[in-house]
Formats: sequence, structure tokens, C-alpha cells
Amino acid sequence: MEEHPIIDRPTTIEVNLASLQHNVGQIKKHCGSDKKVMAIIKANAYGHGLIPIGVALEKMGGVDYLGVAFLEEGIALRRANVRLPILVLGGIYKPQIGTFLDFDLELTVSSLEKLRQVEEIARAYGRPAAIHLKIDTGMERVGVHSESAGPFIAAAVNSSFCTIKGVYSHLACADDPNSPMTKLQLERFNEALSHFDRLGAPMPLRHLANSGGIINFPQTHFDMVRPGISLYGIYPDASKKGPLDLRPILSLKSNIVYFKVVQPNRPISYSSTWKSGHMIRVVTIPIGYGDGYRRSLSNCGEVLIGGRRYPIVGRVCMDQFMVNIEWDSAYNGDEVVLIGKQGNEEISVDDLAQKSGTIAYEILTGLNERIPRKYIA
Ligand SMILES: *Cc1c(COP(=O)(O)O)cnc(C)c1O
Repeated sequence: MEEHPIIDRPTTIEVNLASLQHNVGQIKKHCGSDKKVMAIIKANAYGHGLIPIGVALEKMGGVDYLGVAFLEEGIALRRANVRLPILVLGGIYKPQIGTFLDFDLELTVSSLEKLRQVEEIARAYGRPAAIHLKIDTGMERVGVHSESAGPFIAAAVNSSFCTIKGVYSHLACADDPNSPMTKLQLERFNEALSHFDRLGAPMPLRHLANSGGIINFPQTHFDMVRPGISLYGIYPDASKKGPLDLRPILSLKSNIVYFKVVQPNRPISYSSTWKSGHMIRVVTIPIGYGDGYRRSLSNCGEVLIGGRRYPIVGRVCMDQFMVNIEWDSAYNGDEVVLIGKQGNEEISVDDLAQKSGTIAYEILTGLNERIPRKYIA
């Protein structure tokens, strides 16, 4: 019946796993070998592919824990036979608690009420739940405020159906080395931790640092660090690179699928927002906002063709957009780089973020499943 092989569309995300390993190595070297690493792979591993990245991190070693946002992400990793401890960072939804236990996933407990819910289900299940206590030190998102942490920690310590694996908080401003907020959060976190000693309870894994904390605030490293964006080779603040040597691991490439000559004063794409006063050559690239290549790059984004930069002209459509190559040569099938290097030129995720009025995180997590991904060892 199927006589022809099914070939992927000529648009690809390439993920370099050697660079991923390099970045993990850089983080470990910077933090010290006594620190554990929880690799944050929520949101489809920041667009890089949840399962391939989870499996690769487990295989390459150097990572002690995986962190995801939702139960469903943890289930997908377990179904792919990933054995590393997995913490679900998000708040818990009571009807899902039993499933955490079935899939051996660790829960974030962020209030006394949620502790009771987990206990109740773990008791019925007949096996303790592995939990991390979430302290709010300044995000005002989820977690028990540090000043109310005493009774919360005491209740968890005394619970026979919850095993406290960790205690953590999240930094709001760690990408800014001058922010006084991090110092305040650190003080509040230490204050919350002191309850373990006061109760004579063993100290669980303490973890606080995201990429910003890893890079800017060594005092936040504690027992384990939680790198997200830095794993993927991107600095939390694009204007401050270092001291780690991070390598971007993702490239986004496509092909020219159409070439034409456009006469003067012929507008291009939806709403006719752009036209040239002279004759130009225009090529069409088969990727658009329906793939997560943002419409805000209309009339301001750039791509690389033949090692040179060329501007996007007109609106980015759902599945395609147009590029003005003036009077240069390009052919159908030529490679187009949207993120990454070609010749001596490079377009970074930060470039796209800046032009789109957002951050690298949103550009990466927006690249969706419609784009085939290729993993290079
Ligand atoms: C997303 C997340 C991280 C990782 O943050 P990066 O800035 O990408 O390093 C760490 N901890 C928690 C709780 C998170 O939600």
C-alpha cells in the first residue's frame, strides 16, 4: 500500500547532544562536584524535546534529578523508561495525587492542606509519598511563606506517609547580580531551613538556584542546583555572558521552496505591509507562526542564506514567510538558517527574542511539535 517512504518536511530543529553534555559539565565545574544537579526539562525540555533530552541526560550522566512542571511530563518520562528521580515542580491537583505514586514521581507540597491531601492518599496506597516542601521566599506564586514555615515543616517531619526528600524555593530576580531581592530570599530560605535543626530532623536536599542563581549567586547553590535555560546553552540575561562557557544546543533550519522576481511597488504578504521601490528577488520559506516562528518577526526578522543575512519582508504567515535577497542568487532547496550558524554569521535565540519583544524562554518553548527534531550525538 505505502510505496513511498514518508520524508520529513524540509524544516528541522537540530539538537546537539554533545553541546548539552558540555553545558552540564560547565555547570558542574562551576558549582563544584559536591553539588547535585536537577536538570529542568519542563515544557518539552524548553522546546528541545522532553523524551529525547530526558533519555540523553540519563545516559550521559552527571545529572541526579529531573524536574518537570506537570504530572503528565513525569508520566511520559517514566513511560520512556527514564529511571532518574523526577520532581514535579508545579502545584498539585488533588485528583492526580494517586498517579504520582503509581509512576514514582516526587511531589511538590506547598501548603499544610496539600500535605494532608498527599498523606491521605499515600496512607490508602500503603506506601509513603516522596515530597519536596516548597517555601515561598519572594515569588508569591506557590509555597508556604518562610515566616509560617515552622508548623508546616513540623507537620511534614511528623508525617508517617510522607518522606521529605527535599526543601526548596524559587528565586525571582537571580538573573540580575545586583538585585537585593536574592539576598532577601536567601535569608528567608535559611530561616525556613533552621526549623529542621530546631526539630532535630535530618536536613533533606536543599535546593534554590535556577540558572541565574547558579551563575550569579554561589551562596544559593546549597545541595542541588536546578538549571533550565543554561542547560540549553542560553544565559538567563542575554547582556551578561559568563563565567560559564555555554553553547547553544538548538538550531532551526529550513529550505527555500520558492523563488521569484517581484516587480517594483508590489506589496508582499497579508495586509500588504511591505513593498520595494525597485525590482527584487524574493524567496519563500516553509515555516510560520503555526510552528512557533513568531509573527512579531514580520518585517524585522532575519535569516541566513549562503552565509549572509537577509530580511523577512511582509507578514509572517501561519506556514510560510518571504525573504528579500535583493539581487543575490539563491535556489530552491538551499539551506536557510533561522536560529544557529551558517558560514561566519549567527542568529541567536536572544536575537529573535529581542526582535519579538520577549525572552529566549518563550521563543524556545514556542517551537512546537510540528517541526521535526533531529538529535546529533
Ligand atoms: C523553570 C524553573 C527552573 C529553571 O529556571 P531557569 O531560569 O531556566 O534556569 C528552576 N526551578 C524552578 C522551580 C523552575 O520552575
